Amino acid sequence: MDSSSSTGRGNSEPAGSPLAAAAAAVPEPAEFTLTQVAEADFPTEHGQFRIYGFEGRTRTETGVNLEEAVALVMGDVHSGTAPLLRIHSQCLTGDVFHSLRCDCRAQLEIALKEVSAEGRGLIVYELQEGRGIGLMNKLRAYELQDHGADTIEANEQLGFESDLRSYLLPGALLLHLGISAVRLMSNNPDKVRALEEAGVRVVERVPCIADHHESRRSYLETKREKMGHLFE
Ligand SMILES: [Zn+2]
Repeated sequence: MDSSSSTGRGNSEPAGSPLAAAAAAVPEPAEFTLTQVAEADFPTEHGQFRIYGFEGRTRTETGVNLEEAVALVMGDVHSGTAPLLRIHSQCLTGDVFHSLRCDCRAQLEIALKEVSAEGRGLIVYELQEGRGIGLMNKLRAYELQDHGADTIEANEQLGFESDLRSYLLPGALLLHLGISAVRLMSNNPDKVRALEEAGVRVVERVPCIADHHESRRSYLETKREKMGHLFE
C-alpha cells in the first residue's frame, strides 16, 4: 500500500518536486495533517480512475477533528490545461437513493460524465453528510422543511450554521497529488474563493447545472437567493 503523511505548511510534496516550491506557499495552518491512506485502481461505468483515500486531522482547542475524503483521478492531470475538478459533499439520500429533494446526484453524474468525456480530471468526495451536520440532522432538517422552513432556516433552527464546509482537506489533498490549478465545476462563487484560500488556483469556473425538476425547485431557489449560487 502506498501510504504517506504530511504535517504543517506544504510538506505534502516530496522534496525536490517541481511543485514543492508552490506547495510551500500554501496558507495551511500548522495544526492540519494530511495522510494518504490508500491508492488503487478503480474501474467505473464512466471509465477507468485511480481512487485515493485521505484523512485530514485538524487540531482544535477541544481535540483532533478527523475528516475523510476520497479522490477519483482520471488520465494525465499534470500536463496540458488545468484539469476539471468537482468537489462533492456526501449526500446519502441523493447519491444512493436518487433523492429529488436536492441536485447532488445529478451534479455528481454531470461531473463524472464531463471528466469521462475529457478523459482526465478529478472528483473529490468529502465524507461529510448534509454540509457537515450529519445524516440524522439532515433528516431532521427535511422534517422542518416539510413544515415550511427552507434549507438554511432548517439548519439554523437545528443550531447549525448554514454551511459548515471548509476546503482545507480538498486543497491539501490536491496539492499532495501535484494539482495546483483546476477548472472547478461549481455554481458557487464561495467555493472558488474557499479553494483558492486552501492554495489551489481556480483558472475557470465551469457551471454544473442539473435538469429542472419540480421536487427540488424550492431547494435550488434557496441556493440561488440566499447562498449566491449562479444558475445562468
Ligand atoms: Zn443532496
